[in-house]
Amino acid sequence: MRLENKVALITGAASGLGRESALLFAREGAAVVVVDVNDAAGQQTVEEIQASGGRALYAHADVSREEDCAGMVRAAEAEFGALHVLFNNAGIMDSADDDATTADLEVWSRTLDINLRGVLLGCKHGIPALRRAGGGSIVNTASFVAVMGAATPQIAYTASKGGVLAMSRELAVVHARENIRVNALCPGPLRTELLMKFLDTEQKRQRRLVHIPLGRFGEAAEIARAALFLASEEASYVTGTSLMVDGGISAAYVTPE
Ligand code: NAD
Repeated sequence: MRLENKVALITGAASGLGRESALLFAREGAAVVVVDVNDAAGQQTVEEIQASGGRALYAHADVSREEDCAGMVRAAEAEFGALHVLFNNAGIMDSADDDATTADLEVWSRTLDINLRGVLLGCKHGIPALRRAGGGSIVNTASFVAVMGAATPQIAYTASKGGVLAMSRELAVVHARENIRVNALCPGPLRTELLMKFLDTEQKRQRRLVHIPLGRFGEAAEIARAALFLASEEASYVTGTSLMVDGGISAAYVTPE
Protein backbone atom coordinates (compact mmCIF):
# COMPACT_ATOMS: atom_id res chain seq x y z
CA MET A 1 0.00 0.00 0.00
CA ARG A 2 1.39 3.32 -1.07
CA LEU A 3 0.00 5.60 1.66
CA GLU A 4 0.18 3.31 4.66
CA ASN A 5 0.19 5.24 7.97
CA LYS A 6 -0.31 8.54 6.16
CA VAL A 7 -2.98 11.14 6.78
CA ALA A 8 -4.30 12.91 3.67
CA LEU A 9 -6.56 15.95 3.51
CA ILE A 10 -8.44 16.41 0.23
CA THR A 11 -10.53 19.48 -0.55
CA GLY A 12 -13.47 19.18 -2.93
CA ALA A 13 -13.74 15.49 -1.98
CA ALA A 14 -17.53 15.30 -2.22
CA SER A 15 -17.45 14.98 -6.02
CA GLY A 16 -15.38 14.24 -9.11
CA LEU A 17 -11.60 14.10 -8.83
CA GLY A 18 -11.52 14.80 -5.08
CA ARG A 19 -13.99 12.03 -4.33
CA GLU A 20 -12.19 9.45 -6.52
CA SER A 21 -8.89 10.44 -4.90
CA ALA A 22 -10.35 10.06 -1.40
CA LEU A 23 -11.54 6.53 -2.22
CA LEU A 24 -8.23 5.60 -3.85
CA PHE A 25 -6.01 7.11 -1.12
CA ALA A 26 -8.05 5.26 1.51
CA ARG A 27 -7.63 1.97 -0.39
CA GLU A 28 -3.89 2.68 -0.37
CA GLY A 29 -3.90 2.90 3.42
CA ALA A 30 -4.34 6.62 4.14
CA ALA A 31 -6.65 8.07 6.74
CA VAL A 32 -8.54 10.66 4.71
CA VAL A 33 -9.99 14.01 5.75
CA VAL A 34 -12.76 14.68 3.26
CA VAL A 35 -13.30 18.44 2.92
CA ASP A 36 -16.11 20.16 1.04
CA VAL A 37 -19.02 22.59 1.29
CA ASN A 38 -21.48 19.93 0.14
CA ASP A 39 -21.94 18.22 3.49
CA ALA A 40 -24.33 15.47 2.39
CA ALA A 41 -22.16 14.31 -0.51
CA GLY A 42 -18.97 14.71 1.53
CA GLN A 43 -20.41 12.56 4.27
CA GLN A 44 -21.26 9.96 1.61
CA THR A 45 -17.61 9.77 0.54
CA VAL A 46 -16.69 9.18 4.18
CA GLU A 47 -19.32 6.48 4.62
CA GLU A 48 -18.16 4.69 1.49
CA ILE A 49 -14.56 4.66 2.76
CA GLN A 50 -15.61 3.43 6.19
CA ALA A 51 -17.87 0.75 4.69
CA SER A 52 -14.86 -0.79 2.98
CA GLY A 53 -12.81 -0.73 6.19
CA GLY A 54 -10.95 2.56 5.67
CA ARG A 55 -10.49 5.54 7.97
CA ALA A 56 -12.07 8.88 7.05
CA LEU A 57 -13.48 12.05 8.59
CA TYR A 58 -15.67 14.76 7.06
CA ALA A 59 -14.72 18.40 7.69
CA HIS A 60 -16.89 21.21 6.33
CA ALA A 61 -14.71 24.00 4.94
CA ASP A 62 -15.19 26.69 2.34
CA VAL A 63 -11.59 26.93 1.13
CA SER A 64 -11.94 30.65 0.42
CA ARG A 65 -12.44 31.29 4.16
CA GLU A 66 -9.36 31.40 6.34
CA GLU A 67 -11.02 30.21 9.55
CA ASP A 68 -12.46 27.19 7.69
CA CYS A 69 -9.01 26.22 6.37
CA ALA A 70 -7.49 26.53 9.83
CA GLY A 71 -10.33 24.34 11.11
CA MET A 72 -9.90 21.55 8.54
CA VAL A 73 -6.20 21.19 9.39
CA ARG A 74 -6.98 21.23 13.13
CA ALA A 75 -9.56 18.48 12.53
CA ALA A 76 -6.98 16.32 10.70
CA GLU A 77 -4.43 16.56 13.51
CA ALA A 78 -7.03 16.16 16.27
CA GLU A 79 -8.58 13.03 14.73
CA PHE A 80 -5.59 11.31 13.14
CA GLY A 81 -2.58 12.85 14.97
CA ALA A 82 -0.77 14.37 11.97
CA LEU A 83 -1.02 15.55 8.37
CA HIS A 84 1.25 14.17 5.64
CA VAL A 85 -0.58 14.83 2.34
CA LEU A 86 -2.43 18.01 1.44
CA PHE A 87 -4.41 17.83 -1.80
CA ASN A 88 -5.74 21.32 -2.61
CA ASN A 89 -8.27 20.26 -5.20
CA ALA A 90 -11.52 22.19 -4.65
CA GLY A 91 -12.41 24.41 -7.57
CA ILE A 92 -15.29 25.96 -9.46
CA MET A 93 -15.97 26.86 -13.06
CA ASP A 94 -18.80 29.38 -13.22
CA SER A 95 -21.10 28.97 -16.21
CA ALA A 96 -21.18 32.79 -16.49
CA ASP A 97 -17.37 32.89 -16.89
CA ASP A 98 -16.65 34.30 -20.34
CA ASP A 99 -14.12 36.37 -22.30
CA ALA A 100 -12.39 39.52 -21.05
CA THR A 101 -14.77 41.97 -22.73
CA THR A 102 -17.81 40.55 -20.98
CA ALA A 103 -16.12 39.60 -17.72
CA ASP A 104 -18.44 39.83 -14.74
CA LEU A 105 -16.24 40.98 -11.88
CA GLU A 106 -18.26 39.06 -9.30
CA VAL A 107 -17.61 35.85 -11.21
CA TRP A 108 -13.95 36.84 -11.45
CA SER A 109 -13.65 37.44 -7.69
CA ARG A 110 -15.54 34.29 -6.67
CA THR A 111 -13.47 32.14 -9.04
CA LEU A 112 -10.16 33.60 -7.85
CA ASP A 113 -11.25 33.36 -4.20
CA ILE A 114 -12.00 29.65 -4.37
CA ASN A 115 -9.54 28.42 -6.99
CA LEU A 116 -6.47 30.49 -6.09
CA ARG A 117 -6.87 32.00 -2.62
CA GLY A 118 -8.26 28.59 -1.55
CA VAL A 119 -4.95 26.94 -2.48
CA LEU A 120 -3.00 29.66 -0.67
CA LEU A 121 -5.10 29.21 2.48
CA GLY A 122 -4.74 25.43 2.32
CA CYS A 123 -0.98 25.91 2.22
CA LYS A 124 -0.93 28.67 4.84
CA HIS A 125 -2.53 26.37 7.39
CA GLY A 126 -1.40 23.01 6.02
CA ILE A 127 2.33 23.66 5.74
CA PRO A 128 2.85 24.16 9.50
CA ALA A 129 1.11 20.79 10.04
CA LEU A 130 3.32 19.09 7.42
CA ARG A 131 6.36 20.58 9.20
CA ARG A 132 5.14 19.13 12.49
CA ALA A 133 4.88 15.74 10.76
CA GLY A 134 8.50 16.00 9.53
CA GLY A 135 7.52 16.77 5.92
CA GLY A 136 5.02 15.66 3.35
CA SER A 137 3.52 16.20 -0.07
CA ILE A 138 1.26 18.93 -1.41
CA VAL A 139 -0.66 18.41 -4.65
CA ASN A 140 -2.44 21.44 -6.11
CA THR A 141 -5.02 20.92 -8.84
CA ALA A 142 -4.35 23.33 -11.70
CA SER A 143 -5.49 22.49 -15.24
CA PHE A 144 -4.23 22.14 -18.79
CA VAL A 145 -5.63 25.66 -19.33
CA ALA A 146 -2.89 26.97 -17.03
CA VAL A 147 -0.43 26.35 -19.86
CA MET A 148 -2.53 26.70 -22.97
CA GLY A 149 -5.54 28.64 -24.16
CA ALA A 150 -9.02 27.26 -23.70
CA ALA A 151 -11.22 26.78 -26.76
CA THR A 152 -14.26 27.99 -24.80
CA PRO A 153 -13.72 31.39 -23.13
CA GLN A 154 -13.38 31.14 -19.33
CA ILE A 155 -11.01 33.96 -18.46
CA ALA A 156 -11.39 33.89 -14.66
CA TYR A 157 -10.94 30.12 -14.47
CA THR A 158 -7.87 30.19 -16.74
CA ALA A 159 -6.28 33.02 -14.74
CA SER A 160 -6.94 31.21 -11.46
CA LYS A 161 -5.30 28.01 -12.68
CA GLY A 162 -2.28 29.91 -14.06
CA GLY A 163 -1.89 31.31 -10.56
CA VAL A 164 -2.07 27.85 -8.99
CA LEU A 165 0.65 26.59 -11.33
CA ALA A 166 3.00 29.53 -10.67
CA MET A 167 2.36 29.43 -6.93
CA SER A 168 3.08 25.70 -6.80
CA ARG A 169 6.55 26.25 -8.26
CA GLU A 170 7.43 28.89 -5.67
CA LEU A 171 6.04 26.79 -2.83
CA ALA A 172 8.16 23.86 -4.00
CA VAL A 173 11.35 25.90 -3.97
CA VAL A 174 10.70 27.69 -0.69
CA HIS A 175 9.73 24.57 1.28
CA ALA A 176 12.00 21.95 -0.32
CA ARG A 177 14.50 21.95 2.56
CA GLU A 178 11.66 21.25 4.97
CA ASN A 179 11.09 17.93 3.25
CA ILE A 180 7.86 19.22 1.72
CA ARG A 181 7.28 18.47 -1.95
CA VAL A 182 4.80 20.57 -3.93
CA ASN A 183 3.50 19.72 -7.38
CA ALA A 184 0.71 20.90 -9.65
CA LEU A 185 -1.62 18.39 -11.25
CA CYS A 186 -2.92 19.51 -14.64
CA PRO A 187 -5.92 17.46 -15.76
CA GLY A 188 -7.29 17.70 -19.25
CA PRO A 189 -11.05 17.95 -19.80
CA LEU A 190 -12.84 15.52 -17.49
CA ARG A 191 -16.26 13.98 -17.60
CA THR A 192 -17.16 15.41 -14.19
CA GLU A 193 -20.02 17.64 -13.06
CA LEU A 194 -17.80 20.74 -13.17
CA LEU A 195 -17.07 20.55 -16.89
CA MET A 196 -20.26 18.90 -18.08
CA LYS A 197 -22.28 21.72 -16.49
CA PHE A 198 -20.09 24.24 -18.33
CA LEU A 199 -20.10 22.44 -21.70
CA ASP A 200 -23.86 22.15 -21.61
CA THR A 201 -24.54 21.52 -25.29
CA GLU A 202 -23.35 18.75 -27.59
CA GLN A 203 -21.82 21.43 -29.83
CA LYS A 204 -19.67 22.79 -26.97
CA ARG A 205 -18.60 19.28 -25.95
CA GLN A 206 -17.61 18.39 -29.53
CA ARG A 207 -15.64 21.63 -29.82
CA ARG A 208 -13.53 20.52 -26.86
CA LEU A 209 -13.28 16.85 -27.91
CA VAL A 210 -11.86 17.77 -31.30
CA HIS A 211 -8.62 18.86 -29.58
CA ILE A 212 -8.07 15.66 -27.59
CA PRO A 213 -5.94 13.01 -29.34
CA LEU A 214 -7.47 10.22 -27.23
CA GLY A 215 -10.86 11.40 -28.49
CA ARG A 216 -12.72 11.32 -25.17
CA PHE A 217 -13.04 13.16 -21.87
CA GLY A 218 -10.91 11.87 -19.00
CA GLU A 219 -12.40 10.08 -16.01
CA ALA A 220 -11.84 11.38 -12.49
CA ALA A 221 -10.41 7.99 -11.48
CA GLU A 222 -7.69 8.32 -14.15
CA ILE A 223 -6.54 11.62 -12.66
CA ALA A 224 -6.77 10.28 -9.10
CA ARG A 225 -4.07 7.74 -9.97
CA ALA A 226 -1.74 10.57 -10.98
CA ALA A 227 -2.54 12.40 -7.75
CA LEU A 228 -1.69 9.24 -5.83
CA PHE A 229 1.72 9.09 -7.51
CA LEU A 230 2.51 12.70 -6.57
CA ALA A 231 1.23 12.19 -3.02
CA SER A 232 3.21 9.01 -2.39
CA GLU A 233 6.88 8.24 -1.79
CA GLU A 234 7.09 6.96 -5.37
CA ALA A 235 7.44 10.64 -6.27
CA SER A 236 10.13 11.28 -3.64
CA TYR A 237 12.36 13.22 -6.10
CA VAL A 238 9.50 15.00 -7.85
CA THR A 239 8.89 18.58 -6.75
CA GLY A 240 8.10 21.88 -8.42
CA THR A 241 6.77 20.19 -11.50
CA SER A 242 3.41 19.94 -13.19
CA LEU A 243 1.97 16.64 -14.25
CA MET A 244 -0.20 16.85 -17.37
CA VAL A 245 -2.82 14.12 -17.54
CA ASP A 246 -4.68 15.37 -20.54
CA GLY A 247 -5.34 12.69 -23.14
CA GLY A 248 -2.55 14.18 -25.28
CA ILE A 249 -4.13 17.62 -25.67
CA SER A 250 -0.90 19.52 -24.95
CA ALA A 251 1.27 17.38 -27.22
CA ALA A 252 -0.24 17.65 -30.65
CA TYR A 253 -1.92 19.47 -33.39
CA VAL A 254 -5.03 17.45 -34.01
CA THR A 255 -6.67 16.99 -37.34
CA PRO A 256 -10.42 16.91 -36.84
CA GLU A 257 -12.01 13.91 -38.52
P1 NAD B 1 -16.52 18.74 -9.26
O1 NAD B 1 -17.44 19.89 -9.45
O2 NAD B 1 -16.99 17.36 -9.59
O3 NAD B 1 -15.96 18.74 -7.76
C1 NAD B 1 -15.52 19.92 -7.13
C2 NAD B 1 -15.83 19.83 -5.65
O4 NAD B 1 -15.35 21.04 -5.01
C3 NAD B 1 -17.36 19.78 -5.34
O5 NAD B 1 -17.61 18.72 -4.44
C4 NAD B 1 -17.66 21.12 -4.72
O6 NAD B 1 -18.71 21.09 -3.77
C5 NAD B 1 -16.33 21.47 -4.07
N1 NAD B 1 -16.19 22.91 -3.80
C6 NAD B 1 -16.60 23.95 -4.61
N2 NAD B 1 -16.35 25.11 -4.00
C7 NAD B 1 -15.78 24.81 -2.79
C8 NAD B 1 -15.30 25.60 -1.72
N3 NAD B 1 -15.38 26.94 -1.75
N4 NAD B 1 -14.77 24.99 -0.65
C9 NAD B 1 -14.70 23.62 -0.60
N5 NAD B 1 -15.13 22.82 -1.59
C10 NAD B 1 -15.67 23.42 -2.67
O7 NAD B 1 -15.23 19.10 -10.11
P2 NAD B 1 -13.94 18.26 -10.59
O8 NAD B 1 -13.98 18.16 -12.06
O9 NAD B 1 -13.74 17.04 -9.76
O10 NAD B 1 -12.82 19.34 -10.24
C11 NAD B 1 -11.82 19.13 -9.27
C12 NAD B 1 -10.66 20.04 -9.58
O11 NAD B 1 -10.13 19.70 -10.86
C13 NAD B 1 -11.02 21.53 -9.66
O12 NAD B 1 -9.99 22.31 -9.09
C14 NAD B 1 -11.10 21.77 -11.14
O13 NAD B 1 -10.89 23.12 -11.47
C15 NAD B 1 -10.00 20.87 -11.64
N6 NAD B 1 -10.06 20.52 -13.05
C16 NAD B 1 -11.19 19.99 -13.58
C17 NAD B 1 -11.21 19.69 -14.93
C18 NAD B 1 -12.45 19.14 -15.58
O14 NAD B 1 -12.50 19.08 -16.80
N7 NAD B 1 -13.44 18.72 -14.83
C19 NAD B 1 -10.08 19.92 -15.74
C20 NAD B 1 -8.95 20.44 -15.17
C21 NAD B 1 -8.95 20.75 -13.82
